[in-house]
Amino acid sequence: MTKAVSPTYEEVMESVEAVASANARTVTRDEIGKSVQGRPIPLLTVTDPDVPVKDKQVLFITGGTHGSEEVGRAITLAFARWLTEPQNATHLSRQVFLIVPCVNPDGAIADSYHNADNVNIYTSFPLWEEPKTVEAAAIWEVGKRWIPDAYADCHGLAGGAMGDSEYIHNGYGGDFAIANGLYVANHMNEAAERAGYPQRTPSLMVLRNEQRCAIPDKFASEMHALALTVETTENYYPLEDSIRSGLARLGALVEMGERIHCFQPYPNYPCDVITGSRPGALMPYGADYESRRRNRKDTCTMIREGVPHCSRMAADKGNVARIEMVLEDTVRTLPEGVAMQLAVDRRARLDKVTWNGQELSPAAAGNGWTSWTDAGARVVRAEIAGRPVTGSNMLEVYYDVPFKPHVQPK
Ligand SMILES: [Zn+2]
Repeated sequence: MTKAVSPTYEEVMESVEAVASANARTVTRDEIGKSVQGRPIPLLTVTDPDVPVKDKQVLFITGGTHGSEEVGRAITLAFARWLTEPQNATHLSRQVFLIVPCVNPDGAIADSYHNADNVNIYTSFPLWEEPKTVEAAAIWEVGKRWIPDAYADCHGLAGGAMGDSEYIHNGYGGDFAIANGLYVANHMNEAAERAGYPQRTPSLMVLRNEQRCAIPDKFASEMHALALTVETTENYYPLEDSIRSGLARLGALVEMGERIHCFQPYPNYPCDVITGSRPGALMPYGADYESRRRNRKDTCTMIREGVPHCSRMAADKGNVARIEMVLEDTVRTLPEGVAMQLAVDRRARLDKVTWNGQELSPAAAGNGWTSWTDAGARVVRAEIAGRPVTGSNMLEVYYDVPFKPHVQPK
């Protein structure tokens, strides 16, 4: 007698094969590694092959990390099937979906939380070093190859309405990242409520121990992906109800990746304000999604290696808005370009923008500055081709105001 609970590992493998062979144009099936006991870990890549990868956002979904939580496997498989339905073709032309429905094959077979070495895979992702288990290493290799814009690990939790909700993993992110995570989680919860599955309030996972991090902590910290743990009730509703709740929320997550929001001038998950907020933000540089993803990861590494300071300076002395980014000489990873944004009063007249004293071209993408009005403010975006330098890097936005300020900062 097997202890395994449906969907079992064997059923997962059959479903993976079935969805891939029924959708040969849009679904690719790969093996990304083997479990401790040598069982293949499958990956489904779902996307429209006629749209180049560089023009698409990337969402990475995993399930079954805890082998005894069959709901995680069931939801990720259902998500893969849902994506192949005709009404979702638009999503496939806008995004790449990476789906690993069974992170822990040995745990699925033994109906155990841990892997065959009795290790919790979920928390075997130390920051800034390689993962501690073969299963975790397989997941992280996919992460490093793709650098997802958003990542969600799907779990099961007993207890009715206690179960259904999201944990928001903020990494080293500040209040802007917390607000963005809550915004997305609330959107997901509203979708679940409309589908008949009321949620509890989303929870915030604060980074406390870099050695015992959960998978989403690593994606949030090292790549600044929007990172969630998605909990869905099990052992309470029928499995079909858990799947409906999970699908409602993952569907809402997919929508969030196609909106323009959160200070980003292009549609994406809210992951591209790497540090800062509207007063002064450091963002990934690049002309397309793929180059911005690589730059986002390099920028996270650079900050870790030695950027103690990157923010808008307190007062716009002489009507010059300044963002200073300081690089210590410990920095080894220099991104190939820098993008910064700040907001000034909507009545301001922009004069010139400089980077380290050199004037940038107006209305130029790639190596220059652009501006637009957003939420009552004038947003200035500077894209600087070339690597930042050790020491101080300074963006200066010179502007004039058609009114008499009541005080002039000295
Ligand atoms: Zn779990």
